[in-house]
Amino acid sequence: MANQGVLNAWLYGRPVECTEQQPDRAFHFILLGAPGVGKGTQAEYLSEKYGAVQLSTGDVFRAAKGSDQGVLSPAMQEAMEAMKAGRLVSDDTVVSMVRERTACLSSGYGFLLDGFPRTVEQAKALDEMLAGMNMTLDGVINYALDMEEVVKRLSGRRTCQQCKATAHVIFSPPKQEGVCDKCGGTLFQREDDKPESIRVRLQAYEESTAPLAQYYEAKGLLITITADGAPKAVFAETEKVIGKRFQLA
Ligand SMILES: [Zn+2]
Repeated sequence: MANQGVLNAWLYGRPVECTEQQPDRAFHFILLGAPGVGKGTQAEYLSEKYGAVQLSTGDVFRAAKGSDQGVLSPAMQEAMEAMKAGRLVSDDTVVSMVRERTACLSSGYGFLLDGFPRTVEQAKALDEMLAGMNMTLDGVINYALDMEEVVKRLSGRRTCQQCKATAHVIFSPPKQEGVCDKCGGTLFQREDDKPESIRVRLQAYEESTAPLAQYYEAKGLLITITADGAPKAVFAETEKVIGKRFQLA
């Protein structure tokens, strides 16, 4: 979860508040990875280690939904309207959203972009924005995992009919099978969490992300890391790769 100060900065244009300590150098990363590969957890570790500010468009959209619409920026309002109408948020709108908040990108702490860019068009717009600020990307970290492994991870989720709390049959099983720990309600598998739905989502993700991965590969920026194993082990691998690339101790 991105820290609240960053979300506020993104939504309302307040100054970015984050760690007190200024890192030795600012890292500018983009994170790619299908839902279920554990990208959010890696983002937290990366943010902690390198000080870069995590900007997740998913978090921004979720926070914006719960906000007073009147205080949102014009591009955010446009995005919310599109989502309410069940339309995809257009490249133009997403790019404007980011453009309105370039102060977040130029923070001395660097950034970790999660969920943006999502298309080659957006990637090109980002390149332009960064060039305008005399900044360059350090790398695009692509967390990859075998599709069936992701299906196994995601399809284990169960949701409480009553309080909507979630459990996981492998990673956080309820004390009593099929029963919510919090309220005693019945746990069920949401339609979205069924293996078939997950496969459809993953396929769509792969198809839409492949051109983006190729775009960054051609620029020599793509760093693919296999995300199997425990989150800490995946992060150790990430640190190794980043260390090698930037000759860090
Ligand atoms: Zn419950």
